[in-house]
Amino acid sequence: MTDSAPKVNLLGMPIEKLEAFFLSIGEKSFRAKQVMKWIHHFGVSDFNDMTDLGKALRQKLSDIAEIRGPEVVYEGISKDGTRKWLVKVEGGSSVETVLIPEGNRATLCVSSQAGCILDCSFCSTGKQGFNRNLTAAEIIGQVWIASQAVTKKQGANDQAITNVVMMGMGEPLLNFDNVVDAIHIMMQDWGYGISKRRVTLSTAGVVPALDQLREVLDISLAISLHAPNDELRNQLVPLNKKYPIKELFAACHRYLEVMGERRVITVEYTLISGVNDRPEHARELVKVLRELPCKVNLIPFNPFSLSDYKRSSRNAVKAFQDILIAAGYTATIRSTRGDDIDAACGQLVGQVEDRTRRNSRYIDAANIG
Ligand code: SAH
Repeated sequence: MTDSAPKVNLLGMPIEKLEAFFLSIGEKSFRAKQVMKWIHHFGVSDFNDMTDLGKALRQKLSDIAEIRGPEVVYEGISKDGTRKWLVKVEGGSSVETVLIPEGNRATLCVSSQAGCILDCSFCSTGKQGFNRNLTAAEIIGQVWIASQAVTKKQGANDQAITNVVMMGMGEPLLNFDNVVDAIHIMMQDWGYGISKRRVTLSTAGVVPALDQLREVLDISLAISLHAPNDELRNQLVPLNKKYPIKELFAACHRYLEVMGERRVITVEYTLISGVNDRPEHARELVKVLRELPCKVNLIPFNPFSLSDYKRSSRNAVKAFQDILIAAGYTATIRSTRGDDIDAACGQLVGQVEDRTRRNSRYIDAANIG
């Protein structure tokens, strides 16, 4: 027998697409819910283990479909409990996924692209260049892998991932359809059942895509601001030249309408010593944010080898926060987690183009096991 057509991967299909798939092969649509539960609730990838499907259907599915996630090539656990997976996606690139346990929460930071075209001046992912968009299966596959790892460790079947942030490698709004499919799976009952408040998409501000998002998804939104004016933001986030702060805020307002009145946008602000962390920047930020219902998350810059930037001192971070708080804002400082395994914000580099130098340690670690 010769090899037939490539198998359809069911991993990245939200319920509507899986139902359509079952109808297209002459089966009842309720099969979709059964299969989705096996995949996402129980981590099953072999149709033969799906015991509530008849034998003939199991065989049929094995012939034409598959459940295939990305392959884990390295796994690290930090002193502080943060876990990181380097997963290989089709085409040879790898991306990173980070799980951050905190009290009774566990937040998974998920990547959406292999590399990134935005090239923000302070982000290591951008320095890797861009390879390609991840498929929906590769995006939800990261949740699938982490979820199985955590469940195994605890020896229980409860869902240990409580929150997901699309803050890993890449700009999620530049991989729109696949990100939306994956987020639907995160939120659907037959997937991971995570509530809309606990799924956050972070964007550098792709305005038209943000408007499109409003039509299809009500989730939590974070914007990467990093500067209180266009002149400085143009230097840090080049995308600002295309979509300046005013336009970005207008799009945020339009998004807030779907989020309902209780909700706010998270403004991310990476503090880089001497660049955007002075008291006058904080005071300017206070003014600029007046119009936007928001809370501010300050991220002390995480250094990496290709950058000359320095992290702001503790005093500078605190002083910046104090100015925001005095003006009535909620302003938190994101604690640096997992930096001993390069899992902190902006340290996620995966293995996009340069496969030999900076990332060789992952490969070594994977080989040594
Ligand atoms: N492209 C999306 C999501 C990825 S980055 C976005 O821009 O929002 C997630 C967050 O980490 C962003 O706010 C990003 O600006 C920030 N970040 C990137 N590099 C960093 C670094 N070296 N130190 C601290 N924060 C960084």
